Amino acid sequence: MPPPLIILISSCFMALAMSVVLLVIARTFPKNIRGLREWGVSVLVIALAIPLFVARDTIPDLFSIIVAQLMLLLGFMLMNAGTRKFAGVAPRDNAVQLFGFVLAYVALFAWFTYVQPSVGMRLATLSAFTLVVLLDQLVLVLKKLPNTTGRAILLFALVILIVSRVVRLGSLMLGFEAPTSLLDESTSQLFYMALPSVMIPIGTISFIMLASERLRQDLEYLSRHDDLTQCLNKKAAIDELEREIARARRHGNKLTIMLIDLDKFKDINDTHGHLAGDRVLVDFAERAKKALRATDRLTRFGGDEFMAILPDTPLEAAQCVAQRLHEAAQQSEPIAWSVSIGLSEWQGNDDTLDALLTRGDQALYQSKKLGRSQTQAI
Ligand code: GH3
Ligand code: MG
Repeated sequence: MPPPLIILISSCFMALAMSVVLLVIARTFPKNIRGLREWGVSVLVIALAIPLFVARDTIPDLFSIIVAQLMLLLGFMLMNAGTRKFAGVAPRDNAVQLFGFVLAYVALFAWFTYVQPSVGMRLATLSAFTLVVLLDQLVLVLKKLPNTTGRAILLFALVILIVSRVVRLGSLMLGFEAPTSLLDESTSQLFYMALPSVMIPIGTISFIMLASERLRQDLEYLSRHDDLTQCLNKKAAIDELEREIARARRHGNKLTIMLIDLDKFKDINDTHGHLAGDRVLVDFAERAKKALRATDRLTRFGGDEFMAILPDTPLEAAQCVAQRLHEAAQQSEPIAWSVSIGLSEWQGNDDTLDALLTRGDQALYQSKKLGRSQTQAI
């Protein structure tokens, strides 16, 4: 079997296997990780174009050239659509331009097949149009994807493909290359055919890595946050507090914590229902985050009890923040709520996390005992 055919057939099987892997992952990964299906289908479309090239001598040019090349371009475009979805960027809304782009591509292929047959010009058309799509993808990846290993591998594959297309376009235009057939056995043609069989697995691996990195980030977020209010959960709150205490010990910074409990929250649940109670918790968290500074952290200890960590904050400053929170509570609607607050300031190196929390709890208990909707400090 001639080498170009061996390369094409092995690329086809490789791409088919990769598309199956991507499509299986698309089904099993959480639905909020988007774009995987488009990536899988794009590799499938490219894989299915290859048998058409292979059947060059037995099927009409319409299928072995026009349809096959159209599938290649659509495959690349679909990959961009997948990356856009994955990155959370709105799909392109310039359907007319996209259609014009594809139409121009098909028209050029038809021209260089039927009117003025030229393998060189067909390859130049393929290189130029896929170059545009690859550059679009490159910009998207650079601008929108987080800096991870998966992104680095994807960038590597894109840059190799882009450079190969630029070089090929240049050499075709300058006449360094004059291919007579897609299946000609020149070294350069074999190289350009072999490139996708290496790049498709590399691209697929980068997609899988990007998706797994996203999954890991999502799971990490879920394990550290309360899904109702999006505040840090108790475990993450204690981690953060330990970190702030270590900082306070090292640098002698001030640190105050604020234990907050909604007043008569059971009554809100009983009167308005549990779901309305949930909305009150969300409303509280939103208003409290606004009352706090960017460096402060609001955490949910559980139920209707929250803790705010106020780094670099002495007790007097924390009193002002607590006051802002009571004022925010007065604006609460449609269901009015109020909070009781217990403040506790880090007492220096002899203090401990447990003691800090216990004092906060005692201060909160005092606020409740003294009539609620107020702040006490110990
Ligand atoms: P107090 O002023 O003394 O704090 O009175 P309270 O009624 O708020 O008493 P407590 O803090 O003990 O009540 C907490 C209630 O919060 C009990 C529980 O049913 C309710 N709760 C806990 N978690 C949730 C939740 O996620 N959503 C809703 N809607 N209610 C919750
Ligand atoms: Mg309560």
